[in-house]
Amino acid sequence: MSLKKKEKGRISRRGFIRGAGLGAGAIAAASALPSLKAQAQQSAASGIPEQWDWEADVVIIGSGATGLPAAIRAAQEGASVMVVDANYDVGGHALLSGGNVALGGGTSAQKKFGIEDSPDLLFQDLTDWSIVESSGMPDYRYNDRGVQRALADNESPTYEFLVENGVLFADQVPDVRGGHAIGVSAPRENHTIRGQVPGLESPSGAGGTNLMRPLEASARKKGVRFLLNYHMDVIFRETPTSGRVLGIQASYTPTVLPGTTTPLKSFRSQGNIEMDADSVTVKARKAVIVATGGHTGNVNFRRMFDSRLTEEIQYGGAPFSPQDASGELAGMAIGASLWGTANQTLERNGFVRKRNLIGSQYLYVSWKPDSPIFPLARATGLQVGDWQNVISVNQAGKRFYDETSGNWPNGSTFSFLDPYVPGDWRNARRIPYDPQNYIDAALAMNEGSAAPDYGAGPTWAIFDSDAVGREGWDLEPPATDPLYFFGADTLAQLAAKLTHNPYQKVEMPAGNLEATVARYNSIVEFGHDVDFEKPSPLYKIETPPFYAAWAGPVVHDSYAGLRINMKCQVMDFNGEVIAGLYCGGESAGGCSQHGTGRCTTQGYIAGKVAAAEPSW
Ligand SMILES: Cc1cc2nc3c(=O)[nH]c(=O)nc-3n(C[C@H](O)[C@H](O)[C@H](O)COP(=O)(O)OP(=O)(O)OC[C@H]3O[C@@H](n4cnc5c(N)ncnc54)[C@H](O)[C@@H]3O)c2cc1C
Repeated sequence: MSLKKKEKGRISRRGFIRGAGLGAGAIAAASALPSLKAQAQQSAASGIPEQWDWEADVVIIGSGATGLPAAIRAAQEGASVMVVDANYDVGGHALLSGGNVALGGGTSAQKKFGIEDSPDLLFQDLTDWSIVESSGMPDYRYNDRGVQRALADNESPTYEFLVENGVLFADQVPDVRGGHAIGVSAPRENHTIRGQVPGLESPSGAGGTNLMRPLEASARKKGVRFLLNYHMDVIFRETPTSGRVLGIQASYTPTVLPGTTTPLKSFRSQGNIEMDADSVTVKARKAVIVATGGHTGNVNFRRMFDSRLTEEIQYGGAPFSPQDASGELAGMAIGASLWGTANQTLERNGFVRKRNLIGSQYLYVSWKPDSPIFPLARATGLQVGDWQNVISVNQAGKRFYDETSGNWPNGSTFSFLDPYVPGDWRNARRIPYDPQNYIDAALAMNEGSAAPDYGAGPTWAIFDSDAVGREGWDLEPPATDPLYFFGADTLAQLAAKLTHNPYQKVEMPAGNLEATVARYNSIVEFGHDVDFEKPSPLYKIETPPFYAAWAGPVVHDSYAGLRINMKCQVMDFNGEVIAGLYCGGESAGGCSQHGTGRCTTQGYIAGKVAAAEPSW
């Protein structure tokens, strides 16, 4: 998809240094680089560029929940900062997020509402081995304690930092809504509200706009430069296994919609570096920060942690911004270690989620037709109001669970346990075991699985035209996607159509689907679901046409990634720091916390420390 290489609108390195708002001292340091040429020549043999296209003190890969706070922090410390993002706009998954931000340890919001919290209490919570989720996952046990200590010490300052940089939080008592693995002793979840910052635009209309657009505005105001549409592929180090990190290489990845030739433009562009060369190198005088958001979209990578995460399972932020493990892979290529891998399994509550959306490929977000990326999302999907209206079947045409279940409680949040005695082994005994009926059944089953990966395959919601009336659905595109939604006059015809879907690799036996529906109808008549205990099954499936809508689970977060220390410095397989390389957010390992709270905090930490690195 790359366009003709040209140098249109390119600004000079000198211009970039000026534009980045460097202090006098920093400019002096930047120009004192006598050894640059010699070093470049010496290292040409190992693929390191002899000349760099751009340079900045701190180069940040990714402009999401980690990248923007890191950029602001580094700029505040006087560093010139360049943010490189593969997407056409800034914000990453955080722009699509609900705008809920878990930060505790004694924030001004907690103090205002009389909530007692402190870094020590937060640290105690985040490392409390006695807490076990209702699914049986003892997630805090797998946290890296050093990384948790750094979070505990920096969460509250990060909250104030976000406020100082324009983020408006609702003036209400912090709660636990949207929080996950954020501790049991105090409520810590904050909720952003729409402020006066102009242009709070988002491709999905989600609340995360209220978090990310103010941060974007603040970063731009501080001179941070953005190079969008460039995907970092390589991190350069003096040698592949030793020395400091020198810079990056990125390739042009514009978002070009089907049927068009013009790449999408970011919502804001003032200060963007405009170019469309096929590839670009950027020298990082002080540091590179990997803030690429994880690996949920890379099937082979995510299967290293849990082999059941086969290709049919979609990921949360698709198709907006990538989570392709590129940060982790580039780090590992120069010796970085993975970390905290036990934290990522299907048994973790909320890691893989069921959504009340069916009939489109990307089920985490209901993409609206006015979204700039709607041609990639292709359908809004059908919102399921009542799971009594459908049954779910696997790729073999068989039911596997109570369709009304599937969303489980956050296992380890405030007031989950009564009494909660920190560190007391009896906590684990008091937590009622509640197996994740849907997720385990949908992803662990073997029915119909086949070579090459023996994946569980798609899940289909099956219903009839009476259900359509009860739900009030309009089935026509763009509500549904023709490759992810099918209708037919008979169940046998419906089953035959399903192989048009790219993930239905095996033919669904028509007899199976007919038998499943017949049995379900008899269960409805009987009034009791003896197979899966769906409470009082209500509606038979008997009035043609019949429908099958894609209804699969979605991977939500990456919970394992590069090994970092308390300063967010990346470490190698020997536990040594890789000089000049930082990481935070979903690309980093050692944390069980979901979402923007830990990511913004790690960006806050990394930005400051990276800016203090010596220049080369
Ligand atoms: C729909 C949705 C709702 C959510 N709601 C909430 C919520 O309410 N509260 C909460 O706490 N969490 C929420 N989350 C999770 C939260 O958004 C993420 O955990 C968080 O944004 C991760 O931050 P990050 O910096 O690691 O990655 P991201 O925010 O995803 O940013 C990563 C950036 O890196 C870029 N990138 C990736 N690879 C490359 C590359 N090779 N080169 C250049 N750029 C690259 C991406 O384009 C992206 O812009 C939600 C997530 C989703 C998808």
